[in-house]
Amino acid sequence: MDYGHRLEFGAFITPTAADPMAPVALARVAEASGLDLATFQDHPYQPSFLDAWTLMSFVAAQTERIRIAPNVLNLPLRPPAVLAGAAASLDLLSGGRFDLGLGAGGFWDAIESMGAPRLSPAESVVALEEAIDIIRGLWNTGERGGLFADGEFHHVRGAKRGPRPAHEIPILIGALKPRMLRLRGRKGDGWLPSMAYLQPGDLAKGNTVIDEAAASVGRDPHEIRRLLNIGAGPSSTQPWAEELAQLTLEHGTSTFIVMGDDPNLLAHFGQEVAPAVRELVSAERARHGTGEASTRSTIALSRRRDGIDYDGVPEGLAAIEPGDFAYSEVSSTYMRGGAPGIILQPETAEQVAAAVAFARRHPGIPLSTRSGGHGISGRSTNDGGIVIDLRRMNDIEVIDHDRRLVRIGPGARWMEVAAALGEFGWALSSGDYGGVGVGGLATAGGIGWLAREHGLTIDHLRAAEIVLADGSIKRADASTNPDLFWAVRGAGANIGIVTSFEFEVSEVGEIGWAQLSFDASDTAAFLEGWGALVEAAPRDLTAFLILGGRRPGQPQVATMMAVVDSPDPDTIIDRLNPFAQLAPLLQQFVQLSTYARVMANADHGPQSGAGEPLASSALLDHITPEFAQAAERMLEAGGSYFFQLRSTWAHA
Ligand SMILES: Cc1cc2nc3c(=O)[nH]c(=O)nc-3n(C[C@H](O)[C@H](O)[C@H](O)COP(=O)(O)OP(=O)(O)OC[C@H]3O[C@@H](n4cnc5c(N)ncnc54)[C@H](O)[C@@H]3O)c2cc1C
Repeated sequence: MDYGHRLEFGAFITPTAADPMAPVALARVAEASGLDLATFQDHPYQPSFLDAWTLMSFVAAQTERIRIAPNVLNLPLRPPAVLAGAAASLDLLSGGRFDLGLGAGGFWDAIESMGAPRLSPAESVVALEEAIDIIRGLWNTGERGGLFADGEFHHVRGAKRGPRPAHEIPILIGALKPRMLRLRGRKGDGWLPSMAYLQPGDLAKGNTVIDEAAASVGRDPHEIRRLLNIGAGPSSTQPWAEELAQLTLEHGTSTFIVMGDDPNLLAHFGQEVAPAVRELVSAERARHGTGEASTRSTIALSRRRDGIDYDGVPEGLAAIEPGDFAYSEVSSTYMRGGAPGIILQPETAEQVAAAVAFARRHPGIPLSTRSGGHGISGRSTNDGGIVIDLRRMNDIEVIDHDRRLVRIGPGARWMEVAAALGEFGWALSSGDYGGVGVGGLATAGGIGWLAREHGLTIDHLRAAEIVLADGSIKRADASTNPDLFWAVRGAGANIGIVTSFEFEVSEVGEIGWAQLSFDASDTAAFLEGWGALVEAAPRDLTAFLILGGRRPGQPQVATMMAVVDSPDPDTIIDRLNPFAQLAPLLQQFVQLSTYARVMANADHGPQSGAGEPLASSALLDHITPEFAQAAERMLEAGGSYFFQLRSTWAHA
């Protein structure tokens, strides 16, 4: 039976220690030859072999595209909780290129010689199942609390979860015995036997056992990939390709891993045999009207939300659904918990237009646009709707050096922009937090550390490319679509989806960066005084003030954070000194820095906002006595746990 999987081809490489760079070189040949997988044996008791984890990490660093897997990992010598972390780490370091081939153990004399107990075949199955549960449990960082498992062979007692792998690492299981096959059907993502150990009829029998076991737990047999380690076939391409195509069409084998440490063999396999097998199989599938099967599991499909035409997602447009591994990382935003029905991640303006067309076909379904996910209103996520998430459109490029003109994608974060422009001694007035996205801030305003000297972000906008609701892609600048250009500078979210921004940026060198904490117990007087000092200060100073709820028995603390756009220490001290006289200083910190360093204050981790955001803001011309007294009353009453005043100055 053909399960309709996408065909993949790999290499089985001997981890020889005698010539340690040889397996690395073979993995590079495999990658250059177009193979999908480089796999390595794991025999820790074999002194002529390199350690598999160390070798795989080295190979990952020396390659860019090819996936890496142990073929297969010796479980009895690898405690599962440690193994989970190692696998997730390699997956993260390699950019999601790790598959976990897992074996219950063999060569028991050798295993015992390394200190692990000998297990019977029946015990090995139980131990493997317990290990799989622990590994998956530790990868599941969405679950709160530590992991407890009290198995017959493996125990964890509140083990901390994580790291979370970069992708849903498939667990591929070797071995042939029926108990193992049934475990694979219940819990595995792939069956990885070696042709050399198979008797005629074993593939068909093995598939039947796996399929029945899968069905017994409500899984679709398509969810389990069928891999095969093979030896070199006939030297000419076509007969070999026909042999393999027949295995796919009759037994559903969809990953062929060739054994043999010969670069010529790998090149021939990757460049000639693999394309020929693909061609034969796709011709046969086309003849029977069958294509590639969905890679989503039955559970994943059951989590789809009503009203969304999941099968109608435009081709080539990346989509994340509620049942997908990546979903929990993209469903919520910084400020709000969300549960969208689908998250589309376009990479070009044309794909954004296609995503908008998809959304137009769903008139009753909420639609959100997201760039950095820091929107205060939380509108960039929703419940059951469509999200157009622009994170992949994050290029930053200089388009005219003399005019300091740069083009920036909406998915870039402001700390990335600051770092990229800092290389040229430039900066673009943005916000105070490096994790905020370009798209939301640059369509709204942008009040940040350079605001009094360099204005708002939108003051620097010279052109934008926008996808409108009808799917058309427009350029807007002072002379082309000037109305649109006017609207995008402040009300961008209401008129379309901006797919790129062109900004004229400023020359900004070293700056002064200060944090001063005051005893502001006489809050109204302090606020009034602070406002007057900011208004009187030269424009190279931009200052923000943060106050929170007052703790019982403690003074009201006010923290001023300020940037002085000058590399001169005397100027910086000069600007800050008047503030230092305003109220008793509790703490002070001033340093020469750069805008890029000040903005490098966020991480790239997933956003995990929960509930609904509650925030309000307003513009003030001056801090009047009335305002200062009202603010004091509000803070005294515990009306805000985070109250912030920002100084700015908008260009006329
Ligand atoms: C921790 C934090 C610090 C902040 N600091 C500052 C600051 O210093 N200065 C400041 O001015 N603001 C600041 N903000 C506010 C922030 O700038 C806005 O909320 C901004 O809209 C966030 O942009 P985003 O792309 O990250 O958000 P998202 O949540 O992705 O989007 C926010 C809104 O913009 C719309 N939108 C997003 N991308 C596009 C696009 N490409 N085209 C059209 N519309 C789009 C969305 O539909 C949504 O309504 C801060 C917010 C947070 C949470």
